[in-house]
Amino acid sequence: MSDIVKVMAPPAFVRAGVRAMHGYTPGEQPAPGTRVVKLNTNENPYPASPKVVEAIRAVDAETLRRYPHPLAQKFREAAASVLKLASPDMVICGNGSDDVLTIVTRTFVPPGGSIASPEPTYSLYPVLAQLEEAKHVGVPWEKNWALPIDALLATNADAIYLANPNAPTGTTVPLGAIEELAKSFGKLVLVDEAYADFAGETALALVDKHPNVVISRTLSKGYSLAGLRFGYAVAQTEVVDEMMKVKDSYNCDAISIIAATAAIEDQEYAQQGWKRVNEERERVSEELSRLGFDVIPSKANFVLAGVPGGDGKAYYLGLKHQGILVRYFDKPGLRDKLRITIGTMSENDAMLGGMKQLLEKQKAA
Ligand SMILES: *Cc1c(COP(=O)(O)O)cnc(C)c1O
Repeated sequence: MSDIVKVMAPPAFVRAGVRAMHGYTPGEQPAPGTRVVKLNTNENPYPASPKVVEAIRAVDAETLRRYPHPLAQKFREAAASVLKLASPDMVICGNGSDDVLTIVTRTFVPPGGSIASPEPTYSLYPVLAQLEEAKHVGVPWEKNWALPIDALLATNADAIYLANPNAPTGTTVPLGAIEELAKSFGKLVLVDEAYADFAGETALALVDKHPNVVISRTLSKGYSLAGLRFGYAVAQTEVVDEMMKVKDSYNCDAISIIAATAAIEDQEYAQQGWKRVNEERERVSEELSRLGFDVIPSKANFVLAGVPGGDGKAYYLGLKHQGILVRYFDKPGLRDKLRITIGTMSENDAMLGGMKQLLEKQKAA
């Protein structure tokens, strides 16, 4: 037998900052084949374009033998064309937009520095800050989820991260407010547009005028490719050049570059999907409101809804018992709410049916 003693505490030779932090908690991923209605991680309910699967099938051994293009040039060119950018050099690609966010943090946030965001927002931002030995400062949203510009400026942070549409609320702030923030702040303003495809709103127009604006995007949500891991950021060329120094040399694999390129080139297919998701979101929002839920108007592929009676966890567990997964956040301001991803029509009907059952039980009790 080995005489190595198992310790419960984190090993002392681990960086103190890492020992002290909690990692990011992703939504549950049930084993493949498990029969659940999965509305907890904002995946797109429709499959990716058939052209994506075709492109992956066509990958040959020679492509795999070689290193991929270090900058994912084919994708940069396709994205520049679709987004009508002045140059492909304004695009940097990543292994999911979480990788892009890591690159952004390492490029702009010094150790000991800070990132500010309106709160609640994407719970990865504090984790990214901690990994840089930096702080995350949350500033409460203003009434009706308006951008708290003055309070964000008052933090004097090194960077402001703004998810637009925001997660987990699904709300958006107008372009004018983001521009005002970018002008007054001067330092990095990251606009995380993971859900912008559904909203049909983007801050891309700000990039030309404001060198401190970086937009991050992902193919996980709008292009149904969460399993592929591909994201990108758009910024002025000089800014992208700095971020290039920070990323891993080959951060996107050959298959993902080919598949992501095929996906973004098939705009017609993707846009049809966004339209269907948006129509279902409106229907689900109306139905939930009719049942007594307090639904925050969303422009993303999910809704945040206050539950009748205010016990979000009870509804989360009640649905889970019925094989329906939604997201519950055990955090101040969110414990009376659930974040529900928009699924296919039949998945949404199953979720609504589950809610009705729970409401009837509550009434009978
Ligand atoms: C899903 C999500 C991302 C990251 O998506 P990737 O799968 O890593 O591309 C980034 N920001 C927000 C707000 C998200 O919800």
